[in-house]
Amino acid sequence: MRRRPRCLIAFSVLFTVACGGAATPELQLIEDVAEAMGGLRSVSQTAALTVEGQGRTFRLGQNTRPRADLPYYQVENYLLQVDYANQRWRLGQDRTTTFLTGGGQLYGARQTYGLDGDVAYDEQGDGAVRASEKVAADRWAEMYHNPLGIVLLGLDETSTVSNLREGGAERVVDIVAANGTQFTLHVSGDTGLPSKVTSSSYHPNLGDVTIETLFDGYQEMGGLGGFQARLTLPRNYTTNLDRFTISRYSTTADTNADVGDLSAPPDVRAVPPPMATVTVDVEEVTDGVWRLAGQSHHSALLEFEDFLVLVEAPQSEARTLAVIESARELRPDKSLRYVINTHHHFDHSAGIRAAVSEGLTIVTHRTNRSFYEDMVARRHSIVQDALTRNAQPLTLEAVSSEEPFEITDGTRTLQIVTVVDDLHSDGMLMAYLPRERILFEVDAFSPSAAASPFAETLLRNIEDRGLRVETIVPLHGAIATLEDLESAVEQEAQAP
Ligand SMILES: [Zn+2]
Repeated sequence: MRRRPRCLIAFSVLFTVACGGAATPELQLIEDVAEAMGGLRSVSQTAALTVEGQGRTFRLGQNTRPRADLPYYQVENYLLQVDYANQRWRLGQDRTTTFLTGGGQLYGARQTYGLDGDVAYDEQGDGAVRASEKVAADRWAEMYHNPLGIVLLGLDETSTVSNLREGGAERVVDIVAANGTQFTLHVSGDTGLPSKVTSSSYHPNLGDVTIETLFDGYQEMGGLGGFQARLTLPRNYTTNLDRFTISRYSTTADTNADVGDLSAPPDVRAVPPPMATVTVDVEEVTDGVWRLAGQSHHSALLEFEDFLVLVEAPQSEARTLAVIESARELRPDKSLRYVINTHHHFDHSAGIRAAVSEGLTIVTHRTNRSFYEDMVARRHSIVQDALTRNAQPLTLEAVSSEEPFEITDGTRTLQIVTVVDDLHSDGMLMAYLPRERILFEVDAFSPSAAASPFAETLLRNIEDRGLRVETIVPLHGAIATLEDLESAVEQEAQAP
């Protein structure tokens, strides 16, 4: 991106339009905003930004109920460095978890990630790994969810600035970058400063989503004045995705600090962006019961006399479609009728739309009903997913905490029951085959996980319900026994 301000182009090429007299009302608004932030010249000569502070980042799709507040990490030592001239940025922050993760992951360590043009990377240990093209596109847009960034983009001659309009007490304008990414800038009628930037993104569970960043607490920040320009920038940034707040930072900024070389590590740049691959490993648990495993999220398949039942449609559309395909290959003469959804967390509900597109009936706790009705109805135009390509109505069987749901015929009975008092997710379901004494569960007990904070609740539920479990088929980790669960509970009780 060339950062030559438009007014200079206008002056040198068109002669008729001098700097400060913008060619269109839209460009005039951008110039006025730059003036309000500290001067058109100062803003257009600013090529880098350093933002420091603290705040919170939230875990989307990991709340206890679909519409509950999101769990969050407390963030300290937040440091964002942006090099607008080269379209590079790097973010580092210390995250401390404020919630039980269930997986025993280590948090509190420094998290560092960045973008260099179209290369996104995540630092891990001493090295870094390349992130997907989708992550890179989202991070590219993120660079302009910032008053300085969006004004520089608006001033850039390769951008298109159009559609000036009033929005309440604000003036609103659209800015389309040379790569086609579209932003909307909202400018406060009171201060003339940016109040909000929005752009669109695609989320596999939520479909087309708006990401908006709100700015407030503007103050003069940055250099010492004189040669070192001071700009008026916000202290507070709040970013919302759809109706969820996903981050909130309280910051100070410097526009004169040297951000150094923010280019991606050469070994990361040398490899192509990762492509999602799906592998399904079929593992027979007992006659007519399989685990469709592979990678981090497993499903299970149960054979009945005339039909098949799948437990879980996790992780992604691609994974769920592959799992459904392998279920149908195992028993091509029987129809795959139900999918049991253990809970609404996004990694366990990412395949729900795909399952609906394949005509499966969703069995879930009733606490998720309206959320799934909404999920199935949402627009997926940015990426046309399986359900968009093959629209099918939602058929949903709701399980309540009081009444277990049973799927039964002459050959087999499957009980679907609520895990009562589960702190990981309200309306968590587990599935039990009483005759075979096999329990299917997820996120309560994941063998080989570093910690098992929810295992005790699972064990209590098994005992309270008088389930005579022998085998546990977890949808994370390896197949285990009731004794394994009991020792995990003991270990957890002894943990400091
Ligand atoms: Zn979960």
